[in-house]
Amino acid sequence: MATIRRIGILTSGGDAPGMNAAIRAVTRAAIFSGMEVKGIMRGYKGLISDEIETFNSSSVSNIIQQGGTILKTARSKEFMTPEGRQIAYDTLVREGIDALVVIGGDGSLTGAKLFAQEYNFPIVGLPGTIDNDLSGTDMTIGYDTALNTIMEAVDKIRDTASSHERLFFIEVMGRECGYLAINGAIATGAEAAIIPEMAYEKDQLGELISQGFRKSKNSSLVLVTEGDITGGAMAMAERMKNEYPQYDVRVSILGHVQRGGSPSASDRILASRMGAAAVDALNEGQRNVMIGIENDKIVYVPFSKAIKKNKPFNDDLMNTLRILSI
Ligand code: ATP
Repeated sequence: MATIRRIGILTSGGDAPGMNAAIRAVTRAAIFSGMEVKGIMRGYKGLISDEIETFNSSSVSNIIQQGGTILKTARSKEFMTPEGRQIAYDTLVREGIDALVVIGGDGSLTGAKLFAQEYNFPIVGLPGTIDNDLSGTDMTIGYDTALNTIMEAVDKIRDTASSHERLFFIEVMGRECGYLAINGAIATGAEAAIIPEMAYEKDQLGELISQGFRKSKNSSLVLVTEGDITGGAMAMAERMKNEYPQYDVRVSILGHVQRGGSPSASDRILASRMGAAAVDALNEGQRNVMIGIENDKIVYVPFSKAIKKNKPFNDDLMNTLRILSI
């Protein structure tokens, strides 16, 4: 196996707090082990357009506490085509980069898997997404910070909900994954969470109503995962207004505030451990794996497993919420 001398790092897809801590960790760990580092700007888009900078240790100074990503991020349609990936490969060859660390979500790692297979190119992925929707890892980088942001916002909404005796549907991110909604609901003492994992199985709002939803309460908070699967908070509110006009219903869509901000201690530590582990993995000859964390231990997860749809959902969380919201 050829020794890796020069690695490239990129961030791709939605930004997540802790991506900078991960960039810092990969850079410093790589330099520590004698590699050269190239920072690739704007994800796969920058790989295609050759926007690449040489990184040294001070390139990543003073960023561990910053949200977003200093490498910028982008979505690239071109990388989804064989022609685009060929241009990306040509860039890597020209720049003398012999391994890549890709920090991103499900889509970014899907692209990494495809590229690694097509060009037999060594890639290690880091799970960088607030959605916590990657399999094989207990947590993704950015999830904890986003959860804390949701908690702070919902605590504030609660003041209005209880003063005006209102029912609030609060929409959070997560796409096909309900972790932000369910754990956000547990952390804020919300009444319920409506999540995609259960949307095909049952009418979650109908069930809440039939179980005597809100009977004993003056105000209620329900967290709803965004997207077509649940229908989103607006659709919930419309249905309530039509079927139960006696309720004073409001909607709050938290939106992009969930993605920003300084990463929590937990995300900084997770990103630092995972970033250093990515370099270890490459040095150990690991290829085409995502770094995960399970029971506080670093694990290597093949891309095909990491990007598998339908991350197993922890039913205990729903039971806990149900019991505590009586
Ligand atoms: P987040 O979960 O935060 O949205 P993500 O990584 O899932 O992040 P996507 O927009 O889905 O974000 O993907 C980022 C980029 O990865 C895409 O713009 C594209 O360049 C690449 N990508 C995604 N899916 C594929 C695919 N099937 N083949 C090749 N490249 C892909």
